[in-house]
Amino acid sequence: MSDEPLACPDCGAEIGSKGDLEPGETVRELTFEEPSSAGDRPRVVLGAGQRNLWLCKNCGKVLGVG
Ligand SMILES: [Zn+2]
Repeated sequence: MSDEPLACPDCGAEIGSKGDLEPGETVRELTFEEPSSAGDRPRVVLGAGQRNLWLCKNCGKVLGVG
């Protein structure tokens, strides 16, 4: 966590409030389970949570999830 003001890395637009963001797709949380025995492949499990992608209103760059 940081208190630094957020700026879009692509276009430099200052993101001061939620109004500067464009809601994007909803994405599911993923959990990666380590294999129980050597030689098995790690499993990917869908988590219960959903997150919304937030895009820069100015250029559409994905800035994060929330
Ligand atoms: Zn931008």
